[in-house]
Amino acid sequence: MEFKKIGVLTSGGDAPGMNAVIRAVTRAANAAGVETLGIFDGYQGLMDGNVVAFTESDVSNIIGKGGTVLYTARAAEFKEPSGMEKALKTCRDHEIDGIIAIGGDGTFRGANDLTAHGMPTIGLTGTIDNDITATDYTVGFDTAMNTVLECVDRLRDTCESHARCSVVEVMGRDAGYIALQSGIATGAIGIVIKEIPFDEDAMMQRIIKARASGRRSFVVIVAEGVKDENGKPYGEGLTARIEEKTEVEARFVRLAHIVRGGSPTLRDRLAASLMGEAAVKLLLEGKSNLVVCERNAKIVAFEINFALTLDKMYKNKLKIGDLDRFSAAEIHEMEGLAELRRREIREMYNAALALM
Ligand code: ATP
Repeated sequence: MEFKKIGVLTSGGDAPGMNAVIRAVTRAANAAGVETLGIFDGYQGLMDGNVVAFTESDVSNIIGKGGTVLYTARAAEFKEPSGMEKALKTCRDHEIDGIIAIGGDGTFRGANDLTAHGMPTIGLTGTIDNDITATDYTVGFDTAMNTVLECVDRLRDTCESHARCSVVEVMGRDAGYIALQSGIATGAIGIVIKEIPFDEDAMMQRIIKARASGRRSFVVIVAEGVKDENGKPYGEGLTARIEEKTEVEARFVRLAHIVRGGSPTLRDRLAASLMGEAAVKLLLEGKSNLVVCERNAKIVAFEINFALTLDKMYKNKLKIGDLDRFSAAEIHEMEGLAELRRREIREMYNAALALM
């Protein structure tokens, strides 16, 4: 089929680098003689017909801009038949031949539905958590971690002055990648993530021993997804227990959305640009229902259903029947990728422990 117009949208939580993807998609499409339509507010805008033709000048000088110029929204109605009907009408009205959807796993579910209804769609990661198992990297991750680094370095200064401990909660509902990697990079004395059981007593002993030998400041990083037995954020209770058990004054800090903003780093601009260009190429080759991923520093693409099911497998959320549509070879590949991810986290966590 001949492509004349493609739509691009950002959906779910925003991530630094989304603008660099929008720019790459617009430029790559333009270079191939295809018009780009910017769809505002994610799937909500697709349902509402909030669509504007994007020229090169619309994406000029946005590569380094945080947030998303197309804005983003959560759109529950899109999951309903009425929402899909509205979205398909917008596609017909604007003669959209294919869509590139930037976001996380919810966004890819939407992309999967669009493809199933005859609208070719390619997914591209834009999420700071790095929580898509099929890809080594999600656009936004590096910038978010560098922001954590900057914030924690500042906290470290004041902790050193006052001889305190900062317990810092960082984003990551399901994935502890931000906490783990930023914990290593900030010299944390404790890292708490969902994926690995946390030995709290051992950390208290490390703090007591280090304080006895003269260390003034401590940093503990906790992923937001970790809760205590009452469902409360783990870091809050941990802060009180640190004071109680080690007599080191402790403060709880939640970085939250501050980590989602800011100008994307080189790593994110590069990933966004290369993935955006690859997404356009795939669409124009007639491919759809794929998510653009990075594996071993190469850009590859996985079928969206494969990527979503792999995610469920990795997070132990598979339901009966989820694997039915896949061949034995595909299931084997998924198991290998899920295990690789688990091993990677385990090994990195063990390395972090050795450095505490
Ligand atoms: P993040 O990782 O930042 O949360 P996300 O893409 O997972 O990003 P969601 O809010 O889960 O964010 O999904 C974004 C949008 O995708 C939803 O508002 C909805 O419009 C659409 N969507 C989510 N789940 C589905 C689904 N099962 N079927 C169809 N569309 C969906």
